[in-house]
Amino acid sequence: MVLFAVDGFEWDVALPLLAEGKLPHLAGLMQRGYYGELETFQPTASPVIWTSVATGKGLEKHGIRNFAKPASDGGERLFNNRDRQTKAIWNILSDYDRTVATIGWWMTYPVEEINGVMVAQTNTVDQIDMKAGKNIWKGMLRDGVPGQVFPVGREEEMLAVLRRVEAEMDERSEAIFGELEHPLAPLDRRLWENTQWSLRADATYLEIARKLLGEQPPADLTLVYFGGPDVVGHRFWRYMQPDLYRFPPNAEQIANFGNTIRDYYIYTDQALGELMAASPPETTFFVVSDHGMRPVNFKSRFNPNAPPANINSGDHRDAPPGIFVAAGPQILPLAADKPVAELVRRDLTPVGSVLDIAPTLLAMMRIPLGADMDGGVLSQIFRAEADISQQPRALASHDTPEFLADRDPANVLHPQEAERLRQLRSLGYIGDDAGEQE
Ligand SMILES: [Zn+2]
Repeated sequence: MVLFAVDGFEWDVALPLLAEGKLPHLAGLMQRGYYGELETFQPTASPVIWTSVATGKGLEKHGIRNFAKPASDGGERLFNNRDRQTKAIWNILSDYDRTVATIGWWMTYPVEEINGVMVAQTNTVDQIDMKAGKNIWKGMLRDGVPGQVFPVGREEEMLAVLRRVEAEMDERSEAIFGELEHPLAPLDRRLWENTQWSLRADATYLEIARKLLGEQPPADLTLVYFGGPDVVGHRFWRYMQPDLYRFPPNAEQIANFGNTIRDYYIYTDQALGELMAASPPETTFFVVSDHGMRPVNFKSRFNPNAPPANINSGDHRDAPPGIFVAAGPQILPLAADKPVAELVRRDLTPVGSVLDIAPTLLAMMRIPLGADMDGGVLSQIFRAEADISQQPRALASHDTPEFLADRDPANVLHPQEAERLRQLRSLGYIGDDAGEQE
């Protein structure tokens, strides 16, 4: 099974592209599978929701309440993997001798021991920029920071992928977005540079996922995170729908960035196709997003020096539903009376919630649920012959005292981390002026 986790993927952007035949791999999964809206909850902060996807539990139980929390020295520190107070699906699968690969998932730094491979999405203390308010980036793999790859014996191999992707960044970006026709205004430059950083992270995780899926046998479950659709949705909605805004971009700006969101969705679909091509043909694919995305800041002047929240023209604070698509041997074709290319928004109905993903995956593998999980099995998505009702009895909880005792945030930061981060900053690896707030 593959769980392709696409941050901020919005049906309202995807449906017109599906109608134009520009998301062929997603359309293929929809045509032979099940799809609809996936409900989510507030706060729609990525660390919170993606941890709920991985645990089947709300934030009160999993403990990842936001990006950062107050630190004992009066400052703030980022939540990290050790703050999660319950097992994630990769822990549970490991308990049951199933193999799992976790690539770029939120709150997986520092990595933990699993029955498989974990490549972290590394969030760092430098992501809290006090000068501009909280200035949080989605994380990425970073050269030179320990604790990002399990098993450690594969660290060099994964960092080699990162270096190769970085060397190819200009070509990759141009292949996705084309060449920018006009010089960039200061605001546009800021938005664009943030997008390049996000593409770098996604392209790295995609290449690592393809590599791992191509190994024999591939993991029983591979989780792959893609953050770019959320990032471009925040930054470039005003260029896609200029008529909604009191201060729209000018014609040159629209020529540069009017298609940036759509281009990234097309790239995301290509990435899905590459994951499918790398996987055995009977692989079940799930594509889910943590929330949708909407236009915001209709009256803003979009001052290039304003904090990130004020230069964003898309957001998701009211928790718009995300996407759910699944296809595979056990998944029921939705048998919609319309071809995918003719779907409109009102054809899509809620399938369930972000809390239901982990329980559903566990049920497919005949692994007991925890009675303490908030989500449940999306039984309507399965064919009758999948016999999903025949399940082992739920445990009270998968969380053992040994597991909980190991979740001590005090022993998380590597002693050299602060120094390494200073080095990275001095190399220009980590800048000041980034801004992914949500
Ligand atoms: Zn977002």
